[in-house]
Amino acid sequence: MQRLHASNLIPVALALRVLTFSAPHNSQVPIIGRTRLSYKITSGENCHMVVASGHTMTSRADSNSRAENKSDSSNLNDNSRQLSILKKQISELLEDSQQLLTEKLFLENEINQLKKRATKLEEEIRSLRMPPNIIGYIQDLEGEKAIVRSSNGTVFMVSINPTLNKKRLKPGTRVSLNQDTLSIISILDDAFDPLVSSTEILDKTNVNYSDLGGLEQEIKLIRDAIELPFENPGIFKKFGIVPPKGILLSGPPGTGKTMLAKAVANATNATFLGLVGSELAQKYIGEGGRMVRELFDLARKKSPTIIFIDEIDAIGSKRLDSSTSGDREVQRTLMQLLAEMDGFDALENVKIIAATNRPELLDKALLRPGRFDRIIEIALPDLSARKQIFDIHLANMPISKDVNSKKLSIITKGFSGAEIKSVTIEAGMLAIVDNKDNCLMSDFKSAIMTMGIKKKQSNLSDPDRLYG
Ligand code: ATP
Repeated sequence: MQRLHASNLIPVALALRVLTFSAPHNSQVPIIGRTRLSYKITSGENCHMVVASGHTMTSRADSNSRAENKSDSSNLNDNSRQLSILKKQISELLEDSQQLLTEKLFLENEINQLKKRATKLEEEIRSLRMPPNIIGYIQDLEGEKAIVRSSNGTVFMVSINPTLNKKRLKPGTRVSLNQDTLSIISILDDAFDPLVSSTEILDKTNVNYSDLGGLEQEIKLIRDAIELPFENPGIFKKFGIVPPKGILLSGPPGTGKTMLAKAVANATNATFLGLVGSELAQKYIGEGGRMVRELFDLARKKSPTIIFIDEIDAIGSKRLDSSTSGDREVQRTLMQLLAEMDGFDALENVKIIAATNRPELLDKALLRPGRFDRIIEIALPDLSARKQIFDIHLANMPISKDVNSKKLSIITKGFSGAEIKSVTIEAGMLAIVDNKDNCLMSDFKSAIMTMGIKKKQSNLSDPDRLYG
C-alpha cells in the first residue's frame, strides 16, 4: 500500500506555495528565474520532491506571453491533479492511522489480559510452593495463647493470628497451624474422616417393612427395641427401665439384615449411617478409634440416627493375647466402640444395629447388657418365608400364568432372600434375551438350576468344608 508520511508532505506543500506566489497569471514582470517543480510519489514510504530543472528566461513578454499562459495553466492543472492525489493519500493515511489506533487499543487490551493471567498463574505457583500447614485441635485457651494438639498427637502452646475471630476459638475447634511456629493461622470447619463421611448416609431410606418377606417375628422384636424408645421415651422413664442401646442381628449372608435396619430407620424417620466393620479396622495406631469417635459425633449431629455396622466381627472378635500391632489396633478400635456405647444415654436419639454372620466369634464385652444386649437371629427363610420373598420380588415383573411362587419356594430349599432375588433377576434376563413378553416358569427353573450350581461350587470352595 502506498504510504506517505506527513513530514514528507511538508516540502511538497511549501513548494506549491512558492509556485503560486512566483507565477501570477497576469504578471508583466519578467520572470528572471523560475523553478519548475515536479513531484514523484514513490511506492515506498517516502515522497521525494525532485527539482527537475531550472532555466533562465529573458523578458520577451509579448512573444512568449501566450505560450507562458498556456504552460502556466497546464502547470496549474498538473498541480491541482497532484493536490487531489495528495488529498486522497492523506485521507488514506488517516484511515490507516485510525486502523492502527484500533489495533493498538486491541493489543493493549490483550496485553492487560495476559498480564492478569500471568499474575494469577504466579499466585497459583506461589501457593503450590507454599509449605503445608499442620491440622490441629484447640485443647485450651490461655490468655492470648492457645494449647493445641497437632494431628500427630503432640501438644503445644502457640500464639494466635490476631485477625482471627476470638469467639470462634473454643476447645475442640479444628485449626490450621504454621509448620515452623505452629501458631494458629486459620479456623477450619469441623470435618469428619473421609471414610466416616463416606459411610452410607441416608437421610431417609426407602425400605419398608412390607419389602421384607417372612421376617414378621424379627420385625416385631426390632420395633420394640428401637422404634418404641424413639417414639415414646417417656414410657421407659415411667417404668424406670433402660431400653437397649444396640441390637445385634446375626444370621447367614443375604437374609435381609441390612434391609431390616434400613426399614427401622425409615419407620422412625431416623438418619441411616451404614458402614462395614472392616472399614474401621485401620492400619495406623489410633486411626480406628478416631473414626469410631467421629462416627458417633456425626450420628449425634444428625440424630435421630441409626448406626448400622455390618460385619462387626471385623473389629469385635474375641480379644486374644495377640502380638501383632495390627491386632492391637483392632482391639483399641473395639475398646473405643465400647466406650462410645457406654458414653451415651440409652434414650439419646442414637441407636446401633450391628450385623454378623459369625456371632460365636464376638467378644463377650460387646454382648453384655447396656451394649448389644438384644440379639435377633435371622435364619435362612423357611418355605412360607421363601414364598413371601418370591411374591415380593415377582410383584413388579411381567410373569406368565404358569409361574407359581409356591412351587418355586419348594424347589429353592436352602436359598437366602438375596439368592431368591437373584433367581428372579436371572429369570427376567433369560426372558429378555429370548425376546419374550413375560417370564415363564421354565425361565425360573433354569435360573434356579444355575443358582443351585453356583451355590454348590461356592460351598465346595468354602475352607470350613475343605478342612472341617
Ligand atoms: P450380608 O450379611 O451379606 O450383609 P444381609 O443379611 O444384610 O447380607 P441384605 O443386604 O439385607 O442381606 O439383603 C440382600 C438382598 O436380598 C436385599 O436387597 C433384598 O432384595 C434381598 N432379601 C434378603 N432377605 C429378604 C427378605 N426377607 N425379603 C425380601 N428380600 C430379601
